Amino acid sequence: MQHTSHGAAFARRIAVPALLTGLLLPVGAAPAPAQTEAQVTAAIGAAYAKYKGLKEGKNADYIPALAKVNPDLFGIAVVTADGKVYTAGDVKTEVSIQSISKVYTMALVMNQQSPDAIINTIGADATGMRFNSIVSVEWSYKGLGGSKLESAAEMNALVNPGAITATSMVQGTSYDQIWGSISGFYNAAAGRQLTVLKDVYESEAATNQRNQAIGMLMYAYGYIKANPLQAVDIYTKQCSVGVNAKDLATMAATLAFGGVNPVTKKQVMKAADVPEVLAVMATAGLYDDSGKWLYLTGLPAKSGVGGGIIAVSPGKFGIAVISPPLDAAGNSVRAQKAIADISNALGGNPYAVTKGH
Ligand code: GLN
Repeated sequence: MQHTSHGAAFARRIAVPALLTGLLLPVGAAPAPAQTEAQVTAAIGAAYAKYKGLKEGKNADYIPALAKVNPDLFGIAVVTADGKVYTAGDVKTEVSIQSISKVYTMALVMNQQSPDAIINTIGADATGMRFNSIVSVEWSYKGLGGSKLESAAEMNALVNPGAITATSMVQGTSYDQIWGSISGFYNAAAGRQLTVLKDVYESEAATNQRNQAIGMLMYAYGYIKANPLQAVDIYTKQCSVGVNAKDLATMAATLAFGGVNPVTKKQVMKAADVPEVLAVMATAGLYDDSGKWLYLTGLPAKSGVGGGIIAVSPGKFGIAVISPPLDAAGNSVRAQKAIADISNALGGNPYAVTKGH
C-alpha cells in the first residue's frame, strides 16, 4: 500500500468540509474541542460519583503481581482536541499497561512498514476465542495448513499470538534496539517517559510459559520469522510498562486526532494508518465482548488485564479509566461503565449521526 505523507493525508481530510463551506482551514491549527469544558467536567464527575462504590469484579491473578494491586484504585481521564486533560479520582497511581500495549506495537509496525504488513502477516478478524487461545493458532490459516490468508485467517494483532507476532515484526538488529523503538513510541504517545514496573515484569516472566508456547507455535507455523522467545520476552516487557489514567487517555487521544498527541502536539504516527488501528480495536479490543461493547458505545477501545481501558472517539476525545477488578471476559467492570456513560453524555459514538445530508 502506498502511503501519503502526513501533510497530504491532512489535506485529504479537510478537502470535503473545505469544499462544502468554501472556507480554507489553516493547516496545523488546533481544532476546537467538540465539547465544552463544563460538559466534560460534569460527565466525568457524574461517572466517578456513580461508580466509586461499585465493588463488582475481581483482579486478574494468573499473573501473581496483578492480584496484589489495590482493587479500589479508580481513575478517569479525558483528553480533548485542544490537549486539555480532564481527570477524576486517582490519576497518579500506575498499573501495568498489559494488552493495551498491543495497540501501540501494532501501530508501530504499521508506521515502520505499512498496514498491509499487519493484515497480510497476522490478519484482522476476531478469533472468537480467549486472548491467549492456542486453539485459535491451530485454526488460523497456517495452522490449518493453508497458504492463503483468505482460507481461514481468524487472527488479529490484539490477541496474544498476533500481538507476539507484531512484536517480532518491530525493526531492529538487537533486543535493545527493538525495545528502544517500542518504548520510544509508547513515550511519544503518552507524552512522557514511561518505565517498566519491575515487579510485574518479573512476575509475568516467571509465569508466562503459555505465551512462550504460543510464540514457539507461531514460529513453527512461519508467522514469526526469527527469535520467538525474544519476541515473547519483549512482549512481556511491553505489557509491564507502568501507566496512569492520564497517560492512557493521552495515548488514546493520539489515535483520536490523526496520530498527533494533542498535549505535546507531536506527530507520533502517520495519520493515514490510524483508521486501520481503530478498525482492529473495534473488532477485537475487548476480547470476546468486543461486539457487545461496540453495540453499546460504538467506540474503538482496548482493555488490559491490569485494569485499564482506553477508548477513542475519533476527532472528539481520547478517554481512559483504570479500575483493576475485571468481569468474566477480562475487562474492567468500572472502566466499561464509566467510559460508556461519559461517551454517551458527550456524544462520543461515531455512528450516532442525527442529521443526514
Ligand atoms: N501480558 C498479558 C498476557 O499476555 C496481557 C493480557 C491482557 O491484558 N489481556 O497474558
